[in-house]
Amino acid sequence: MTDELHHWIDGARVTGRSGRTSEVFNPATGEVQALTPLATGAEIDDAIARAARAQTGWAATNPQRRARVMMRFAALIERDMDALAELVSREHGKTLPDARGDVQRGLEVVEFCMGAPHMLKGEFTDDGGPGIDLWSMRQPLGVVAGITPFNFPAMIPLWKLAPALSAGNAMVLKPSERCPSTALRLAELLQEAGLPDGVLQVVNGDKEAVDAILDNDTVQAVGFVGSTPIAQYIYGRAAAAGKRAQCFGGAKNHMIVMPDADLDKAADALVGAGFGAAGERCMAISVAVPVGAETADRLVEKLVPRIERLKVGPYTAGADVDYGPVITAAARDRIARLVQSGVDAGAELVVDGRDFSLQGYENGFFVGPSFFDRVRPEMEIYREEIFGPVLSQVRAESYDEALNLVCDNPYGNGCAIFTADGDVARDFAHNVNVGMVGINFPIPVPLSYHTFGGWKKSAFGDLNQYGPDAFRFYTRTKTVTARWFSGIKEGGEFAFKQME
Ligand code: NAD
Repeated sequence: MTDELHHWIDGARVTGRSGRTSEVFNPATGEVQALTPLATGAEIDDAIARAARAQTGWAATNPQRRARVMMRFAALIERDMDALAELVSREHGKTLPDARGDVQRGLEVVEFCMGAPHMLKGEFTDDGGPGIDLWSMRQPLGVVAGITPFNFPAMIPLWKLAPALSAGNAMVLKPSERCPSTALRLAELLQEAGLPDGVLQVVNGDKEAVDAILDNDTVQAVGFVGSTPIAQYIYGRAAAAGKRAQCFGGAKNHMIVMPDADLDKAADALVGAGFGAAGERCMAISVAVPVGAETADRLVEKLVPRIERLKVGPYTAGADVDYGPVITAAARDRIARLVQSGVDAGAELVVDGRDFSLQGYENGFFVGPSFFDRVRPEMEIYREEIFGPVLSQVRAESYDEALNLVCDNPYGNGCAIFTADGDVARDFAHNVNVGMVGINFPIPVPLSYHTFGGWKKSAFGDLNQYGPDAFRFYTRTKTVTARWFSGIKEGGEFAFKQME
């Protein structure tokens, strides 16, 4: 049976009016399990206008009361953890333990936002001049927008909405049309936690909805996560309209393996970070860079049996499964095409996952794991973000060559180095031009009280996601300079004021 999904407007499920829908698949079977309504510009404008009305009262609610909504929300997410994880897995296809991680890493940002009053309390200078005090306050922007990708249906909406709302904004959230149900459920939980209706609107849609958000003058800021071309497009259009924008894009994350690294641990890390979630993570390691021919040969020996042992299957098959299907048939076919392009370009396909088929799930979007050795930087499989279970190995002769490879790559989301040498690790962390670095740690997604953000073509705009940066992004600073005239000199002053 195909579910008809809805929007979430003013605290209620609202049926789409456009007549246009997008199919949500069960990626394990290939069947359509739901239809997402695709909002028109008019529906978007209406949701934004309603959000603006709700925002005034929410901004006037004191920060501690707003934080209490986050406290109750966190408790409800914990209460419903299993159900939320199941919702993620149902539409995305990732395994249940991985889906729990998706919810958990979002929950941690909600927990950080319980401390929003501390983040919002501003700065004060007593006696900046004779009888003159200055203070800066952080005020909400008004209505802000979140536009999120399919691959973390819980975590990324939570990264967007928790700081935005706890700072006193209203948010119009447009989740991925491919996995919209988790965001809709989170909105219901927020209502149960006491969020006033209208402060979070979840609107579903595609480019038409996104463009309506970008063109709406009420929207003050846009937080986007998705692929690089769309991130760059949204950043450009939002900035041209005078909005704040932070747009996080795609990635090609490298892991350097030094000759002194523990190769068993490096191989374990590569298999988990390369193939977990079918490679559909912006922090997936897609390029292994062993230094020296001997390291490379030994790494291949360690990797091949581990990759061949990987169990691919539906999340319903239980704890045995390492990763599930990719998101659509189009994604599966694109991955197969890219693997073929690697073969055609002369890379060595050591493990070939293309003919993978699972009995009973022949129409599912499963892709077996592939591993290429001797990939070169000019090949398409190196230049493109494959976003699938494909690991490439690029051999480097020296540490400097490996470092330069990472630095020359246009993406700069995450990277890692495996080594036993603290000096090399320190040099790498200092010199690499990538936003998040792991040392003997393959997927260095920072904890919620730090911040998340890539460099280069992995992010457009200013400030990172979550942590203290999120409160800077979702607020604007107003600075007051004040004095009281009792006992203060008479007469006007015409020179630019210096604080004597
Ligand atoms: P996507 O760019 O296709 O879609 C992201 C969002 O943009 C969705 O809500 C979608 O509806 C909307 N969108 C798509 N096409 C649009 C268009 N032409 N105009 C306006 N809006 C449009 O990304 P995806 O396939 O959902 O997600 C995977 C990508 O996201 C990967 O590239 C991955 O690396 C990246 N990602 C990045 C991060 C990060 O923090 N840097 C995190 C997760 C995922």
